[in-house]
Amino acid sequence: MNFDDTPQEAAFRAEAKAWIAANAPAQYKDELAKASLGRVQLKGANILEVGKAWQKKKAEAGWACLHWPKDYGGRGATPIERVIWQQEEGVYGKLSGLFIIGHGMCGPTMMAYASEDQKRHYLPPLASGEKVWCQLFSEPAGGSDVAGLRTRAERDGGDWIINGQKIWTSGAHYSDYGILITRTDPTVPKHKGLTMFFLDMKSPGVEIKPIKQANGQAEFNEVYFTNVRIPDAQRLGAVGDGWNVSLTTLMNERMSIGANVATGFPELFAFCANLTLADGPALDDRAVRSKLANWAVRTSGLKYTSFRAISALSRGERPGPENSIGKLVAGAMIQDIATYALDLQGAAGVVSSPEQAELGGKFQAMLLRSPATRVEGGTDEILRNIIAERVLGLPGDIRVDKDVPFNKIPTKGR
Ligand SMILES: Cc1cc2nc3c(=O)[nH]c(=O)nc-3n(C[C@H](O)[C@H](O)[C@H](O)COP(=O)(O)OP(=O)(O)OC[C@H]3O[C@@H](n4cnc5c(N)ncnc54)[C@H](O)[C@@H]3O)c2cc1C
Repeated sequence: MNFDDTPQEAAFRAEAKAWIAANAPAQYKDELAKASLGRVQLKGANILEVGKAWQKKKAEAGWACLHWPKDYGGRGATPIERVIWQQEEGVYGKLSGLFIIGHGMCGPTMMAYASEDQKRHYLPPLASGEKVWCQLFSEPAGGSDVAGLRTRAERDGGDWIINGQKIWTSGAHYSDYGILITRTDPTVPKHKGLTMFFLDMKSPGVEIKPIKQANGQAEFNEVYFTNVRIPDAQRLGAVGDGWNVSLTTLMNERMSIGANVATGFPELFAFCANLTLADGPALDDRAVRSKLANWAVRTSGLKYTSFRAISALSRGERPGPENSIGKLVAGAMIQDIATYALDLQGAAGVVSSPEQAELGGKFQAMLLRSPATRVEGGTDEILRNIIAERVLGLPGDIRVDKDVPFNKIPTKGR
């Protein structure tokens, strides 16, 4: 592994750094740097508006969706240049939260399956942040097992009629478009009767109901479809090939989530460095030191694992299923670290309102968001299955309904 930039990479880094220094919304830098994991909000400013303005500025200067082709709103940069950009963008990257799904999953799926005209029409406004996209996959009966989904699409001349329900759809309430996976043939095994579409989220018959979360926010939604009409031209991939299309999306999901793993360790270390316990500074306490040492080792492990992926990108290789390890380790760490920080805060740890809690409620917010990290983009158990089967080569999970026609799988209340 060689961590030094090549001369070309160094020149690219210098150009990116200079542009960011001259153009980033510096008035939010401190606030973004302090923002806790999972609760990025700005005092006196709407994060959606600030995020869209920053994205637009980047797009106008050729810094949006760097690795996308220029014709589709990107820069045609190499994967390693994208990593360099992310390193230099630093805390301002937190302004891009609302675009993660569109840029990381919907865009690549459109690029792989939409027509040339559609790509030229839909991708540039997605890259520039003018239009926001969401991913309509999970359902009450189809989460880890997406192929268990029941939302129906039935052909009606040149259109498809959609009926059913999705759940946990992040950002549906502010999205303009979405990619939607449906069941078009219930008489074949569950992975074979699926078809993918994209749709306008303002289409008649689409109803969006926000879900309130434990942290008080409502980032995701239930989405209901009642006789929603989608033209066949908005089908992505062949009829019945939706599972393969969804793999493109899910592979990109794991890459974009896995690439930005936060652990909470720097926040915990800074907290402990300023904390005095009953018998002296926290950093002199053996129990605290032992915990910190353990998490420091894991943080280093994650850092070098991500460097390994970056080196692979630099050599022109694509990170594989081993990329799942980052989210698996970091997700559990965030939860453990936030719990420990609240233990150290003693009775004050139970206060969570940002105005009254210690450190603006940073660790409380982290703890309340942390279970979601362990579920979104693949639960811990599913990631372990992926690592077991595809990295370690262990025998596969038992999938008894894999070859049974979907409408013959025994179930309650279909
Ligand atoms: C913050 C957040 C944002 C999300 N955003 C979106 C979004 O934008 N679009 C979207 O479509 N979905 C989204 N999701 C949904 C997410 O993809 C699902 O929650 C996830 O795939 C798990 O599905 P489930 O909730 O139905 O749980 P289930 O699949 O029902 O799992 C329940 C439990 O069973 C375990 N389990 C399931 N199968 C196995 C197995 N084979 N082996 C071992 N254990 C197993 C799971 O690990 C879990 O502990 C989001 C979720 C979260 C938390």
